[in-house]
Amino acid sequence: MRCEPARAKIGDVPLWEYTFALAKRQLKLRKGEGAHAGDALLGEQIVQAMILPSPRPVEEQPLTWAEVPCPEPGMGGILIRVRACGVCHTDLHTVEGELTLPRLPLIPGHQIVGVVEKLGPGATRFALGARVGVGWLAWACGECEFCLRGEENLCARARFTGLHINGGYAQYALADERFAYLLPDRFSDIQAAPLLCAGIIGYRSLRLSGIKPGERLGLYGFGASAHLVIQVARHWGCRVYVFTRGEEHRRLARELGAEWAGAAENASPAPLDAGITFAPVGWLVPLALGHLRPGGTLAINAVTMSAIPEVRYELLYQERTLRSVANFTRQDAEEFLSLAADAPLHTEIEVFPLAQANEVLGRLKRSEVRGSAVLEIPQD
Ligand SMILES: [Zn+2]
Ligand SMILES: [Zn+2]
Repeated sequence: MRCEPARAKIGDVPLWEYTFALAKRQLKLRKGEGAHAGDALLGEQIVQAMILPSPRPVEEQPLTWAEVPCPEPGMGGILIRVRACGVCHTDLHTVEGELTLPRLPLIPGHQIVGVVEKLGPGATRFALGARVGVGWLAWACGECEFCLRGEENLCARARFTGLHINGGYAQYALADERFAYLLPDRFSDIQAAPLLCAGIIGYRSLRLSGIKPGERLGLYGFGASAHLVIQVARHWGCRVYVFTRGEEHRRLARELGAEWAGAAENASPAPLDAGITFAPVGWLVPLALGHLRPGGTLAINAVTMSAIPEVRYELLYQERTLRSVANFTRQDAEEFLSLAADAPLHTEIEVFPLAQANEVLGRLKRSEVRGSAVLEIPQD
């Protein structure tokens, strides 16, 4: 399908922040409903998408197949023809309403792989047809104290893909060109998708855990992010211990080089220099702290988590560190994508059609995905 973008006029709002209100109005106009003086039919082409009208448990099929007009890239924006989009745990938290949703309806999805179809005014970073990826960080202000310190992941005005900005569960998506990345050729579209969140945020977690080459690392939970993190850690010569429930996940962990795989309730076979928790369950934290050597660090890779039970001070004493990991910076993304190509990392994926997004999120909720789930986007 060729996309002839709708020519949106959205006042002060940057055009790349295309709003659904406009989309809905256009569709009504197209159907001859609700037209009044001053309205114009703004575009003919439609985009197929899975949209979230309102959050609900995934068992109730919160996402709906819809056709919306194609958006227009604004200043510095690019229109991406999406080929694949990874499915992340954060998407599950989004559709089920565990995250505060700044807009509805919404198109989720923040591991977008596609090609640049159209450049907005002033966009010069990519050529038309370039293959790019877009991750969770859609925009940061560039002028606050955090942005100026190189901590744009903590920017209070940051916007996130598939949350503030429509994401990649659709045939087309908009992005600010400064927050898109060229993808290494060695990865196909579906293989590249999980690198864009599971991979990049996993890499940031590794960095913040302070792990050094050759040291002992514990991973708690073994989903999309952990299966990439273990490969980076192995590439650095680390010894990796994986704490996870499912036998299938333990098998994959051993295949990917884990020295040991078992339950979090078990004692660790060796004191750990660093640990990373991926499962959003607070009860893991005291268990994982108990596995650390003095001076070790536990990093929490989760955007939301159940309450952490009371922690005895002995678990933290001896200079152990407990810290969270929030989002990522563009530097994390560039470093990780280059590392992924050099290592090279292998992305373990299960591929599904876009229309099955509800079912895929259900599988993710039940821990039934081996590696990462990726949606293949219909091209016509
Ligand atoms: Zn900022
Ligand atoms: Zn994610």
